[in-house]
Amino acid sequence: MSDPLTHALALHTAKEGRPPTVLVDMDEVLCHWEKHFVASRRRRFPHIPIADAGNRDSFDLFTGLSEEERRANTTVLDEPGFFAALEPVPGGVEAVGEMVRAGIDVAVCTSPWLSNPTCASDKLLWVQEHLGPELANNTVITRDKSRVLGDVLIDDKPEVTGAVQPQWSLLRFTRHYNRLLEGPRIDDWSQWREGLARVLLERGGPPRHPASGQLTGHG
Ligand SMILES: [Mg+2]
Repeated sequence: MSDPLTHALALHTAKEGRPPTVLVDMDEVLCHWEKHFVASRRRRFPHIPIADAGNRDSFDLFTGLSEEERRANTTVLDEPGFFAALEPVPGGVEAVGEMVRAGIDVAVCTSPWLSNPTCASDKLLWVQEHLGPELANNTVITRDKSRVLGDVLIDDKPEVTGAVQPQWSLLRFTRHYNRLLEGPRIDDWSQWREGLARVLLERGGPPRHPASGQLTGHG
């Protein structure tokens, strides 16, 4: 008897004629963005207090801030090189490698901080360094993830919306600001196999082979 992910991958491939495409977000999913942000803010603006990383109730970094705090945050986020220096989230690099080896089509999908002049290129450098050239080649940098084709998006953003109805299903990566929302989630990378299997099985109806239209039984 195969494990749930192997089962889900086989069903998906039988139905769609291809393995699933999994889009993986970067900030707070593959990289520790907030930890680096808080450390940089304290270093650059030691006189302006900021809470420890991991305690924000709001995904939006600017909610409820004074003008001085806003300016400090923007200065830190606009610093060239900021996005290349992030530590990996434990298990993320390994999980992506396991997905690739399982035959999953994996693409990194990330939104750049537009006012940081090196953000997009730093994100590509990060992927190149931690995940390798093939994943760097499969990286989509966009402000609108709704336009990106895929079956599942693993992301910490509470609601991922954009100009069009996304084709992917959201698998939330748990962070403080999304912890109360309904829907499929993984709390850390140790849960990715079960989480991905659940979302793929929920998306799939009865499998059909595109050429024959036959239903293939399972179970
Ligand atoms: Mg993120």
